[in-house]
Amino acid sequence: LVDIRRVRKSYGSHQVLRDISLQVPRATVTVLLGPSGSGKSTLLRCVNHLESIDGGRIIVDGDLIGYRQSGQVIHEMTPKQIAKQRQSIGMVFQRFNLFPHMTALENVVEAPVGVARRPKSASRKRALELLERVGLSDFAKHYPAQLSGGQQQRVAIARALAMEPKLMLFDEPTSALDPELVGDVLDVMKELARDGMTMIVVTHEIGFARGVADQVVFMDGGVVVESGSPEEVIGNPQRQRTRSFIDSVT
Ligand code: ATP
Ligand code: MG
Repeated sequence: LVDIRRVRKSYGSHQVLRDISLQVPRATVTVLLGPSGSGKSTLLRCVNHLESIDGGRIIVDGDLIGYRQSGQVIHEMTPKQIAKQRQSIGMVFQRFNLFPHMTALENVVEAPVGVARRPKSASRKRALELLERVGLSDFAKHYPAQLSGGQQQRVAIARALAMEPKLMLFDEPTSALDPELVGDVLDVMKELARDGMTMIVVTHEIGFARGVADQVVFMDGGVVVESGSPEEVIGNPQRQRTRSFIDSVT
């Protein structure tokens, strides 16, 4: 579903992504591991075209991200085209970025109705189903401030799912949570994976990576150092850099 080829990205003279290639088959989970500053968030942001790339290409479900090709010529998309493309890719961040003045239900309904102009009553019904799916049926009328961090993060997942994305990107979705709240969020993600969602997940939760990932990718210094199954990359890393990182987080 996702094909990342030789992607490069710099901020000024700082080359953050040096040469990243990565394939994510449909209905699989890829966990991205790597030390702080290795470029994990930047890569996710490029996949969603929150950042543009300097070289290489990113294709999601056959579409070139952020660009369109006519004949041999590649043009940057218009903001409107990019917004449309972004709708098919859900993203969940470390900090739950819910709208504080809206209830859980309103947060989930906002994009389908406000952005995609879908009918209100059907979107509401669908949003209630999604809140049920993330275990929050009883909290539809609560405002973010009335929810725990874990509950807010599950609303954020439901909100991303409301646009029926082909792909879900998670950037350290549990790292801002109190330890006792992490499990509920990971359980929702596990269930999503079981239902066949294609996911790219940046996380330091090694247990999740071992149990759920089809592919683990270890990044450092803007390159993929090592990738493979969890057994390979976590259980038996080949490279010293991978090994010392795995030792430091387990
Ligand atoms: P962490 O584990 O801390 O979240 P990361 O692997 O997600 O790290 P990135 O956030 O992708 O790392 O950042 C990679 C590098 O790019 C860092 O050195 C960071 O300072 C730099 N960087 C990220 N965003 C910007 C920006 N908007 N402008 C300039 N430099 C940036
Ligand atoms: Mg990051």
